Amino acid sequence: MTAGEFDRIVERAIASIPWRYRRRLQNVAFVVEEDSPGGALLGLYEGRPLPHRSVSDSFRMPDHITIYQKPHERLAHDAGHLEQLVRDTVWHEIAHYFGMTEAQVRGAESRRARKRLGQRARAIRPPGRRPTGDGP
Ligand SMILES: [Zn+2]
Repeated sequence: MTAGEFDRIVERAIASIPWRYRRRLQNVAFVVEEDSPGGALLGLYEGRPLPHRSVSDSFRMPDHITIYQKPHERLAHDAGHLEQLVRDTVWHEIAHYFGMTEAQVRGAESRRARKRLGQRARAIRPPGRRPTGDGP
């Protein structure tokens, strides 16, 4: 895949972000790099997350969200999967921009993945416990 083709995929991924989030993406630059150091990293957010900014920050250099092309291509099974992977990475890095920690981002991702699959989490009752009463 050419760099230009991949750039289009990243552009579509950014365009798929709902407007209510996209309009708050200020002073953040999306860049595409061919490969990540080590080759496993899909994307990288660098900057000061939105909740930690102050008025004087408006003079700072823009934040950077880097999307790495080759790691996505290596993971993707087909063209549709590649689009999905890039969308997931763009969401992931934007979530960091909005101040979510890695754990929060991953939690939100697994909820989104379940929703996509139409699945709901099932509570598992540990074995050996008698189902009496309604206590926890
Ligand atoms: Zn992350």
